[in-house]
Amino acid sequence: MIQNGFLVFVILTFLFSGCQKNLTEYSDIRIFMGTTVIIKVYSKDNNTAGKSVASAFDEIKRIEDIFSIYRNNSEISILNKKGSAEVSDEVRELIGRSKYFSEISEGAFDITVLPVIELWRNAKKKEKMPTQAEIENANKFTDYRNIIINEGKVSFLKKGMKADFGGIAKGYAVDRAVNILKKSGIKIGMVNAGGNIRCFGGKIWFIALQNPREKKDFVTILKLKNKSVATSGDYERFFSLDKKKISHIINPITGFSAEDSISSTIVTDTATDADALSTATFVLGAEKGIKLIEKYKNAECLIIDKERKIYKSPRFSEYE
Ligand code: AMP
Ligand code: MG
Repeated sequence: MIQNGFLVFVILTFLFSGCQKNLTEYSDIRIFMGTTVIIKVYSKDNNTAGKSVASAFDEIKRIEDIFSIYRNNSEISILNKKGSAEVSDEVRELIGRSKYFSEISEGAFDITVLPVIELWRNAKKKEKMPTQAEIENANKFTDYRNIIINEGKVSFLKKGMKADFGGIAKGYAVDRAVNILKKSGIKIGMVNAGGNIRCFGGKIWFIALQNPREKKDFVTILKLKNKSVATSGDYERFFSLDKKKISHIINPITGFSAEDSISSTIVTDTATDADALSTATFVLGAEKGIKLIEKYKNAECLIIDKERKIYKSPRFSEYE
């Protein structure tokens, strides 16, 4: 499924410090991980820029191939099928990182929600609300504490558990792509995978946060330098059942889609952290979400609750 539009959009890109004036812009756009990926770099030589950007896209594809639950032979699909598997260091590390975000968010972020997501996907297909018993049954498999990492092996303690990296893998892919760009000599650039953005180098990027209920309007404009931003929202991917709006983000406590927020935006250092924390705070809602972010070093957030009220962490305004 391709996500239409962006939760954020990059609007102006002209604030360079003096010595970078001879650089020219190179950008390209592809579809990966069910979303639009834009890479923009500034370089003296278009040829080198083109090669670097192509390698960065290759890296995103490589990550998609590993973490996708839509590819039968991805490492994650194999783990989900077998319930226990030898995994690559990369998979083990991202599972470890995911568990960390589950711990600090007291389970609001939990990659083991896949059985619940599948239940809702089926409900959408059949256009029939699942029963409370069906929801509870699917949600029995949700518990990050039942993922055991033992050296190179990952095991699920309950048969039927499955993991979904939809809340963190795009951010991770953005970080990896930025790594590739930097390694190939690019000094200034930006990678945007469906609103999971990381920018790097001596340039300020102006990023407008779309108004979740008024697409042409924006909530604020962020000024970011060497930072990442991600937004989780209920307005890009959702469906209706019995006149109820069901979004793609699950509250692991209830097994229903998270209902407290319209959107949550995180600014922090890495795109992986921004991605996971935006999903976590979306589930937690404004009050608990901001409390979590206040404890987290170098992260700020802006949450819009379902009454459309805007809440910001204490130092969010430093980026506006
Ligand atoms: P995002 O758009 O980054 O907030 O991620 C949403 C995606 O993360 C969903 O489409 C699911 O694949 C997955 N997901 C849903 N609920 C959760 C949750 N509570 N914790 C972790 N991942 C989730
Ligand atoms: Mg996320």
